[in-house]
Amino acid sequence: AMKQRLLVVANRLPVSAVRRGEDSWSLEISAGGLVSALLGVKDVDAKWIGWAGVNVPDEVGQRALTKALDEKRCIPVFLDEEIVHQYYNGYCNNILWPLFHYLGLPQEDRLATTRSFQSQFDAYKRANQMFADVVNQHYQEGDVVWCHDYHLMFLPKCLKEYNSSMKVGWFLHTPFPSSEIHRTLPSRSELLRSVLAADLVGFHTYDYARHFVSACTRILGLEGTPEGVEDQGRLTRVAAFPIGIDSDRFKRALELPAVKEHINELTQRFAGRKVMLGVDRLDMIKGIPQKILAFEKFLEENPTWRDKVVLLQIAVPTRTDVPEYQKLTSQVHEIVGRINGRFGTLTAVPIHHLDRSLDFHALCALYAVTDVALVTSLRDGMNLVSYEFVACQGEKRGVLILSEFAGAAQSLGAGALLVNPWNITEVAASIGYALNMPADEREKRHRHNYAHVTTHTAQDWAETFVSELNDTVVEAQLRT
Ligand code: UDP
Repeated sequence: AMKQRLLVVANRLPVSAVRRGEDSWSLEISAGGLVSALLGVKDVDAKWIGWAGVNVPDEVGQRALTKALDEKRCIPVFLDEEIVHQYYNGYCNNILWPLFHYLGLPQEDRLATTRSFQSQFDAYKRANQMFADVVNQHYQEGDVVWCHDYHLMFLPKCLKEYNSSMKVGWFLHTPFPSSEIHRTLPSRSELLRSVLAADLVGFHTYDYARHFVSACTRILGLEGTPEGVEDQGRLTRVAAFPIGIDSDRFKRALELPAVKEHINELTQRFAGRKVMLGVDRLDMIKGIPQKILAFEKFLEENPTWRDKVVLLQIAVPTRTDVPEYQKLTSQVHEIVGRINGRFGTLTAVPIHHLDRSLDFHALCALYAVTDVALVTSLRDGMNLVSYEFVACQGEKRGVLILSEFAGAAQSLGAGALLVNPWNITEVAASIGYALNMPADEREKRHRHNYAHVTTHTAQDWAETFVSELNDTVVEAQLRT
């Protein structure tokens, strides 16, 4: 039989494009979780539709890029600088991202945001329509269209306006907040209604799905059922689909001679000390200052541990042009500097803080040598770092300290030490508990998490979503 075609629509294509000349481009595939997830889905033939991350104002450049991307099974949506500014930096990153993560804005910024709200929302709708146009050009009957994330909440409605029989799914990679938070959005109803145009709406956790359904019942006055949301006899199915990772990719990496050598080096470098690890984008939601303050408290209260433990914090720069993020960076630097000044010696410091990303193999090696991983997100859709750490701990059986506000707490809760990242006393105590944990308890906790991470993979996630979407459409046809 012919494979079903899957059109994956996301704000960013999984490639970075660099222009080499008037009509030549070099492309690099970014091997993220979503890419390997969709490569692994059986019996479907996936194509990507999205923005390539570059402004291409001229037709020659656009045509050349379209052709180059075609070989990577990618189809570009061209957005100009102005729309990117209003839609992406503005509405997506300054309004939806903080709101969905329960982040308050400073009063001044909130007023500024309120004033520019309407023009940004208009740009958001225009951008979503541009994605819809491209999808519509490439759509063939029988295709499944899978829309991703908060950038494209308006897309399901645009697609169904083109073709009401299109199979449309939408998945949110962030949390969906309590309906009381969503209510504050001026565009609250329009966004909900357009998402509801999809056949299937998915979230990482049951809580996020429940928040979405209550937003629809309370704000739109629709009926929530165990299956989803009903509007005049039409059902939008709403469910939880927790994402996973490609755990085999991590296991394979740990077998490579270069990675093994790197592991040996790290083991020697930190001999005699326990290694604690944090890996986060330098974002407000990750709770990096809270994590470091808890570590300071632990050192304060446990003088004997001071020269026996080290915290490696990888802080991947993100949105470095935004003042809020610049402020966070200097705040973190200040705290790290203070703690290293306070507890460091002539030969060692308690915190190694890196403002950069690591390549995949270096990251795997770090995960493998870690004794205690520390994830203190204030809010986090899922948090894949916690999964990746577990996947690399086949030999070491390290401990995961995990924020209860990360989606991963729902799946790794029984194996991890769950903490409220705002409670520094509790986090500091958990650090002590983790460092002193006897081997049999570590073994038991690790086994639980490892079994989950290796059996709930990214491939399973994508496969389940797509087959559920197909089923949902069949059931809807049977009902009418
Ligand atoms: N990551 C990376 N390089 C680094 C640090 C992290 O590629 O130097 C990856 C990491 O492997 C993980 C992702 O970035 O897959 C972070 O995903 P997560 O869900 O933890 O958080 P997000 O950044 O999506 O909020």
